[in-house]
Amino acid sequence: MKSPRTLHRRPERGEATRRAADRSGRRGNSLLRQWTGPLTQDLTLHPADFGLGKVPARLRPDATARLICGYCSTGCSLDVHLQSGVAVNLTPTVDYPVNLGMACPKGWEALTPLAAPDRATTPLLRHPRTGRLEPVGWDTALETFARRFKALMDRHGPESVAFLSTGQICTEEMALLGALWKFGMGAVHGDSNTRQCMATSHVAYKESFGFDAPPFTYADFEESDTLVFIGSNLCIAHPILWQRVARNRKRPEIIVVDPRRTETAMNATQHLALTPKSDLTLLYGVAHLLVQNGWVDREFIARHTTGFAAFAEFVRPFTPDQVAAASGLTAGQLRRFAEAIRPPRAVSFWWTMGVNQGHESTRTAQAIINLSLMTGNVGRPGTGPNSVTGQCNAMGSRLFANTSSLLGGRDFLNPEDRAEVARLLGLPPAVVPARPSLAYDQILDGVAGGTIQGLWVIGTNTAHSWTDSARARRALGRLEFLVVQDLYATTDTARQAHLVLPAAGWGEKEGTFINSERRLGHVKKVSRAPGQAISDFNIFRLVADYWGCGEMFREWSSPQAAFQILKRLSAGRPCDFTGIADYRHLEASGGIQWPFSERMSVDCFRPSANSAPVPLPPALRERRLFADGQFFTADGKARFIFDSPRSVPEPVDAEFPFVLLTGRGTSAQWHTNTRTGKSAVLRKLYPAKPYVEVHPVDAARLRLGSKARVSVVSRRGRVECAAFVTPTVGPGQVFIPMHYEVANVLTRAEFDPHSRQPSYKHCAVRLEGVSTARK
Ligand code: SF4
Repeated sequence: MKSPRTLHRRPERGEATRRAADRSGRRGNSLLRQWTGPLTQDLTLHPADFGLGKVPARLRPDATARLICGYCSTGCSLDVHLQSGVAVNLTPTVDYPVNLGMACPKGWEALTPLAAPDRATTPLLRHPRTGRLEPVGWDTALETFARRFKALMDRHGPESVAFLSTGQICTEEMALLGALWKFGMGAVHGDSNTRQCMATSHVAYKESFGFDAPPFTYADFEESDTLVFIGSNLCIAHPILWQRVARNRKRPEIIVVDPRRTETAMNATQHLALTPKSDLTLLYGVAHLLVQNGWVDREFIARHTTGFAAFAEFVRPFTPDQVAAASGLTAGQLRRFAEAIRPPRAVSFWWTMGVNQGHESTRTAQAIINLSLMTGNVGRPGTGPNSVTGQCNAMGSRLFANTSSLLGGRDFLNPEDRAEVARLLGLPPAVVPARPSLAYDQILDGVAGGTIQGLWVIGTNTAHSWTDSARARRALGRLEFLVVQDLYATTDTARQAHLVLPAAGWGEKEGTFINSERRLGHVKKVSRAPGQAISDFNIFRLVADYWGCGEMFREWSSPQAAFQILKRLSAGRPCDFTGIADYRHLEASGGIQWPFSERMSVDCFRPSANSAPVPLPPALRERRLFADGQFFTADGKARFIFDSPRSVPEPVDAEFPFVLLTGRGTSAQWHTNTRTGKSAVLRKLYPAKPYVEVHPVDAARLRLGSKARVSVVSRRGRVECAAFVTPTVGPGQVFIPMHYEVANVLTRAEFDPHSRQPSYKHCAVRLEGVSTARK
């Protein structure tokens, strides 16, 4: 891990002299004298107070502020060092139950993107004559926003506009956006980029458990006898969670199911390098072996589940021979997998995007849940079918974005749910629409087809991150009115906008995130947003005023006030967090996992306006769900859900003989690199140019060496990459990290039918135009 760095860098002592020396051409012999770099006095460390150890004098803080990292769903806490209220540095929080004093490179560099020179500092409106984005005031921007969206809705109806938002903003913000859009502005369609990462887990849990309820706590990493990672490169995607695995003292069996020999697979005791997208068949094959050998927890199944008999019958044809042929594994590997998860071992199953981003992803996630149920691995330490979320606030989005689900995980189709939300918000029931939104892909189809003509994109980069991106860009280009709200006006999507609204980023505003283990954490303002940029929360409030519905949202006067509304909306739900008094309570407790009802709170903490926040007792700091075997379904039992596997939508053939896999490249990159690309430190940790991993056997056949230029071609497009010859991919497979925009030029717009999550992990490509340059 690197050493701390400065956000607002001050000239170092001696720097002026060095610059003058450079200007005069006095560079000299660097062996005799070093003309650049820090002086000794800058390297001398001084006590920093606040339990921070020592820092250089120029970075000595006069205060610190604690906030949750704004990248991934791990939810690490960072102590930001302040000088006169300005953030100058940060270190990971030592006593936070999630990260225990650790952070990955993105966390260490979290302040840097805020100071990037290309921050959007004023609203920008595309000039009708010059075609250029030109600065305007907020009044013009918001008047234009309201006038043009209203005109579209008046002319073409409320379904002619939509928003696409993000799992990167605070829960209070996404809830206000969803309520404003649907209840205030009278629009219908809106979705979030969480569709790209967590829609599958959401649907899978909801169908199997009766509510979108990831059951685990991170302590489970340390308490399992066996950990199974399916489509999860935890070492890279969630590096601090991998540190939790490393703390497991039980010498656990670690099984990694992944076609690639990822960093996580390299640390496994069993790596099952299966044929891409044969995971559902494999999981049914393992269930078959468990049934055949009686390696199931009959008591748990009988008391707490429904549908097992039909499932056992369903998996009967998934014999080891049949599954071995489909997956490319051996019958011995299958048996070893089954033996490692048989009762009474404490087994935890972890999955991420390798499962969620597939053409049959929901049933695959449920096949994992089924293994967990049939072996009784739910609700005990070290167990669980555990989906690790992607973005810092994907869980907040799942519960409160008000897009597919009504606020608080309710159902738009249920009249009682609609009436309850209207009552809790003090709104007329008629303002709550009786149908959910179109999904992301359906919204873009509507844009491409002309039925949606106005789009508001908030904190996401559709033109880069959406599958078959050339098609997505063409669709965005057809819009009558495209508004992009972001930190930067330089994203691929913002460049296509008619109006850009400059937003404050993480660290420049207040609110809460909910991490993968259901822990609510607090985000604070430690830096001033540049120019006229303001928080997403305040942008939404202004939009409400300019739209003319501001009165409906008077109670949403601040993030803290909105948090109290969210508590009300959670009351009596599985995600009930009415026991959390306020932000101070979260901070004093090291975050708090839902559920945390008022009743639970009374047992340990009696909040009152004047009482100081009291931390949670240790027993309540790390909690898992379903210890009582009671699920959120009507009969309290978990369901076995299954379907026959389907073939991949685009199999390889003579013309396109390689399978393209995509995924994370390094722990220094985040999504489309809009933020991580701003850090010189992070940029040193990954190749600047896109590359494609090719197996040595294929490389030899194609006379292809590492660093050779190669064209990767799919039915959607052609891109240029440098070849990286490596056995981490199997023969017939290639891999491109998703952070480079070339990746989605190639991917195919294919979706899981239940979650409508894109299938980024499999399409057919060929390699062309290779040079024979070798390293
Ligand atoms: Fe931030 Fe995730 Fe890295 Fe933790 S692991 S520091 S939450 S990006």
